[in-house]
Amino acid sequence: MRNPLIDAADTHELLLEGGPSVGGDGAGPGREAANELEGAVRDVLRDRGLRYSRPREAILAFMAEEPRHVSAESLYQSLRERGEDLSLSTVYLNLGVLVEAGLLREFKGAQGESLYDASVEPHDHLICRETGEVVDVPMPLVDGVALPDFLRDHVERVTGWTVDEVHLSLRGRPKRSGGEAN
Ligand SMILES: [Zn+2]
Repeated sequence: MRNPLIDAADTHELLLEGGPSVGGDGAGPGREAANELEGAVRDVLRDRGLRYSRPREAILAFMAEEPRHVSAESLYQSLRERGEDLSLSTVYLNLGVLVEAGLLREFKGAQGESLYDASVEPHDHLICRETGEVVDVPMPLVDGVALPDFLRDHVERVTGWTVDEVHLSLRGRPKRSGGEAN
């Protein structure tokens, strides 16, 4: 299952391939593409029972552009640089709402800080302790079952408990060319 937002961003990109807008009246293809994206974001939000707002659109559009793992602070900085007029607390508030609605995923970075991910497909993260770099790790299948489901079933069988959540925590450091291991 793909994130509906990433589909919306793809549509946006296609529309932008229509060439440079002619005339400066603000009604060219660029404006249409922006309207198209706004419409797609409205649909996505409505499907999740959420109201449209400009900060929600800005956050979702930014997150859907490319694979990203961002903190609330860095997202706030990036949006401000794009000319969005919003506060850090607005960013925090809306990130919480979007995670709750299943449109973004929250996980913990190298220092235990919250990071946000537009990919809500099952995957885990390999995190560098030194630089905080985050790499997506697709979950392997064990006996045809995704690893977290396999673990849950296994643990439930041996303990008799009901497991509500499975979190895998992976820490490491990337191989550097010319560097030595320590
Ligand atoms: Zn990820």
